[in-house]
Amino acid sequence: MNTYVRTSVQELEAYAPGEQPKVAGLIKLNTNENPYPPSPAVARALAEFAADSLRLYPDPVCAALRERIAQGAGVGTENVFVGNGSDEVLRLAMRAFTRPGGVAAAFAPSYSLYPVLAAAEEVGFRTVPLPDGYGWTEPPADLGASLFLLANPNAPTGVFYPVEAIEAFCRRFPGVVIVDEAYVDFSGGRNCLALAKRLPNVLVCRTMSKSFSLAGLRIGWAVGSAELIGALYKLKDSYNVDRLAQAVALAALGDLPWMQANAEKIVATREKVAAELAKRGFQVVPSAANFLFVEPPAGRSAADVFAALRRKNIIVRYFPGGRTDNALRVSIGTDAQMDAFFAAL
Ligand SMILES: *Cc1c(COP(=O)(O)O)cnc(C)c1O
Repeated sequence: MNTYVRTSVQELEAYAPGEQPKVAGLIKLNTNENPYPPSPAVARALAEFAADSLRLYPDPVCAALRERIAQGAGVGTENVFVGNGSDEVLRLAMRAFTRPGGVAAAFAPSYSLYPVLAAAEEVGFRTVPLPDGYGWTEPPADLGASLFLLANPNAPTGVFYPVEAIEAFCRRFPGVVIVDEAYVDFSGGRNCLALAKRLPNVLVCRTMSKSFSLAGLRIGWAVGSAELIGALYKLKDSYNVDRLAQAVALAALGDLPWMQANAEKIVATREKVAAELAKRGFQVVPSAANFLFVEPPAGRSAADVFAALRRKNIIVRYFPGGRTDNALRVSIGTDAQMDAFFAAL
């Protein structure tokens, strides 16, 4: 067919983000946003931000923010990359650590953006099916992949894989392993940062979108060896993180106790909601994230529950087809929002 669009882009099935309807009174439990506001330091930084400074380009390497993240992680600035959301970090990593016609791999189910990023780079995508219960399984040695994308806790399941198992895999894997820790602040202090410091082929990816209540700001970062980080810097847009985002992110990082207190509240709510859903006959996967992956009781399909909740103005996430066809992912909201969710159920 005669077309202006590159074949791989024509064939690309774009990532489907959770819906963001503009309906008043809607309870949004579909995109794992934080139900609590960001730190008051964020509002202060916005109020004090000098609009005139927007005449000037932002710092291309986010020096101040990078320094702050490096300090927090206990690494040098050469070990930190700051991106326009961690989705940008993942996209650049896909480009940097594969070649056209090469292979990237991930567990299935996992973050549905990963195969889209691979296809965009004309890279093959292999999946390693998770066992029943979605716990850890050692990926086979002969994957033929140069990049493994490993969300921990995983999405959409919420399962936290043991750090020792991940370490053993990283030591054996012949390519780069990205440990995508978008939800790790809800995991009780466990994380893989030490692996990114010890092993030259491991990148740990974080975001301010979930635990910091800043999904609208678009800040993510990666920690890893200077070699991997340097590759991301070569590929990024010249000014990938805007001036306002740099200032606000720095302010939010200056108030970690606020983020941690919100994460604790969400974890407490998560445990209550998990117990209540189990009592109502739902199968609930144990979660270390700010969402629950659940299967409805016998006789009710996930598609029906999703549609019925939607009619009552409550949106959860449904990934039709395949292994997730009879499951729903429910983001954890405030206690009041979760009461409304149960009332609707
Ligand atoms: C939400 C999410 C991200 C990231 O998001 P950004 O908003 O782009 O920082 C990354 N990985 C997983 C698994 C996520 O769920």
